[in-house]
Amino acid sequence: MAKKKMSLTTKVIIGMVLGIMVGLLINISGLNAEGSFTNMYVVNGLFYVIGKLFITALKMLVVPLVLFSLITGVIGIGDIRELGKVGGKSFALYLLTTAIAITVGIVIAAGLGIGEGVHMTTDTAFSGKEAPSLAEVLINIIPSNVFQAMAEGKMLQIIFFSIMVGISILMVGKKAEPVVELIEIGNEIMMKMVNIVMAVAPYAVFALLAKSIASLGLGLLADLGQYVVVLIGVLLFHLFVTLMAILKIFTGLSVSMFLKKAREMQVFAFSTSSSNATIPVTLRTVTEKMGVDISVASFTVPFGATINMDGTAIMQGVATVFIANAYGVDLGFAGHLTVILMSVLASIGTAGVPGVGLIMLSMVFTQVGLPVEGIGLILGVDRLLDMVRTAVNVSGDAVVSVIVGKSENKFDINIYNDPNAGMITEEELHIPEEVEKELAEVVKKVHDEE
Ligand code: ASP
Repeated sequence: MAKKKMSLTTKVIIGMVLGIMVGLLINISGLNAEGSFTNMYVVNGLFYVIGKLFITALKMLVVPLVLFSLITGVIGIGDIRELGKVGGKSFALYLLTTAIAITVGIVIAAGLGIGEGVHMTTDTAFSGKEAPSLAEVLINIIPSNVFQAMAEGKMLQIIFFSIMVGISILMVGKKAEPVVELIEIGNEIMMKMVNIVMAVAPYAVFALLAKSIASLGLGLLADLGQYVVVLIGVLLFHLFVTLMAILKIFTGLSVSMFLKKAREMQVFAFSTSSSNATIPVTLRTVTEKMGVDISVASFTVPFGATINMDGTAIMQGVATVFIANAYGVDLGFAGHLTVILMSVLASIGTAGVPGVGLIMLSMVFTQVGLPVEGIGLILGVDRLLDMVRTAVNVSGDAVVSVIVGKSENKFDINIYNDPNAGMITEEELHIPEEVEKELAEVVKKVHDEE
């Protein structure tokens, strides 16, 4: 009897659970003491190197993948007005979900009165970093040097350039066909590379989580128990109730199917804490598992990773209420409204800045007159909570991509409803012998001709 192969998602989840368990064990047993063998060679040696290699490999894929897929996408849409519609719809939906997220965060946190009775004893200083102004962000959408934009991974600039290339190719028309083919093949090659990197994910996810949890421990969470519980509660509410309701209302699609297919992407986001590094996986999930056409997803995914941060917005709402109460500041209705507006603006304003959550928060605090040092209070637990909110962030990107894809008729419902769609199989990662031979022949022929 043939043994049923375990799916990659299952393996990744096993890697995650084992990673958390091993990390906890190392942390609790005290094996991770500064200078110990485990600390030097396992946690900051093996686990660190494997995790870092993996995140770097994912990041390596992002720029060429976005470039090729977006140019392919623009050519696929073919009509500039359609492109504008995709842009407009996704922008509106991203703002809407962010605004709902932070409002729910504030209402629940304020309703529960979290932070009241917390005594302000923080010795962790936090000084907010400067964030670019909205005007600067707008101006910066156009790169003065595309190579610099790519080298620095400036997502909005790369998106802008790719769209321009796509439009210009359409304008050149027939003569540009070879380039179209080249870019399409380039896109396929990059997608294959995503599969290769994903094949090692179970081990990498294990290493990433074992390292984080071994270094940070979960004890920290207990210190700020109230904040942590409310924040995680609202994050889960947003993911399972709000986002799923939005998906259902706009598309009527099966919620359980969405959640099943999103799991892998969520684990990637959770273990890397970066929506940007997760772009390759989100793009793959949304197109190959959920059936959104590349012409829509190639835009909505990198755009969402940059401007749409529902989880981060929730953190801001909950943190604002918590710290305001801890300092005994009454924000009042107007203050809370300012926080909502500021957070939505900040989520656009900080587009392209890595690890943006806290920078956005300091912008919001300055605006409503809360002490920025107050952020020091929650700094300790932020690294762990960042993992959870990043998983919520990418889920929002995927929901909006499906909604826009379906409304634009750039969506294949058969792929969405097929539970096995987009599974990475062993055959896919295997180079068939004939292909190897054929390619070798081609190379030889080119050589001989030279
Ligand atoms: N880590 C989050 C993300 O990349 C952003 C943040 O909340 O800092 O989506």
